Amino acid sequence: MAQVVCLGELLIDFVPTVTGISLGTGISLGEADMFRKAAGGAPANVAVGLARLGVPSAFMGKVGEDGFGRFLAATLADAGVDTGPLRFAAHARTALAFVSLAADGEREFLFYREPGADTLFAPEDIDPADITGAQVLHYGSISLITEPCRSATLHAIALARAAGVRRSYDPNLREALWPNAEAARAGMRLGLEQAEIVKISEEEVAFLTGLDAIEPGVRALWHDGLVLMAVTCGRRGCRWFTRASSGAVPGFPVTAVDTTGAGDAFMAGLLAGLIETPDALDDPAELSRILRVANAAGAVTTLSRGAIPSLPDRAAIERLMRAALG
Ligand code: ADP
Repeated sequence: MAQVVCLGELLIDFVPTVTGISLGTGISLGEADMFRKAAGGAPANVAVGLARLGVPSAFMGKVGEDGFGRFLAATLADAGVDTGPLRFAAHARTALAFVSLAADGEREFLFYREPGADTLFAPEDIDPADITGAQVLHYGSISLITEPCRSATLHAIALARAAGVRRSYDPNLREALWPNAEAARAGMRLGLEQAEIVKISEEEVAFLTGLDAIEPGVRALWHDGLVLMAVTCGRRGCRWFTRASSGAVPGFPVTAVDTTGAGDAFMAGLLAGLIETPDALDDPAELSRILRVANAAGAVTTLSRGAIPSLPDRAAIERLMRAALG
């Protein structure tokens, strides 16, 4: 039985075979000649990240009953993720996202998803036992954009809440997928209001609150149900906030090649640590230790291209942490 069920989008990323980074300049989608397919979707990356850390995980969502959908299901299964809760849509195709990576690390997205099979994941596709038997339900904001996957996400959250399953959330900002910025803010906040554990980037805090400083931003987002908010700050590591205390954990100095998936690796590291040591939420020293491991997981992921191929196992994390000490 999975300890963590990750719910949300699973799609194909098409990434130029030549990136802006290796060219030394930015490359736009229009300029790229060739694209390589890769499994994408933040909640799916978290599921794989957890499996690689030895935490039994499952993925819940929908892909098309097509070659790409079967490729995605096989990719997750090969990585050790339970795909029992994954459904296949007969009448919609697996979503595609073309993603270019410029020299400054900024990404350009172009989605083919009208509708993507992922958005057709519906409340009736959920077997409640897949959620109530887990310790954590992890979800993002992309599945909160359109129906029926919005209702399915809210239904899963309600099932988790009723069964005392921890709710974990990463409000990934993809403004282009929302009708407008206001709708994005409202939808991302809706997910946050239902969550107990939140991982959010400093840019997302600023987007949601209009406040550039992290602490006032977190205060504006805080609600009584939260037990932890971890704010990721790229190479600088992260800040964390619990009901009783707060702190900062520095990142690891690495030469980043591609930051895709770093946040998902961080999330997997954090959830793995909290499952192993639930008392860490009341123990700042232990929480800092877990977040140091999460930072290391994020840093390792930046060392090579792509998300899923770069997500570390425990040995890779330990190697980086040992090297940083030495
Ligand atoms: P997100 O992908 O959610 O925007 P970040 O880019 O902040 O999140 O990255 C998540 C975590 O990965 C960071 O908190 C940090 O620990 C690690 N990380 C990301 N980029 C780098 C980098 N360039 N160097 C070292 N660590 C990084």
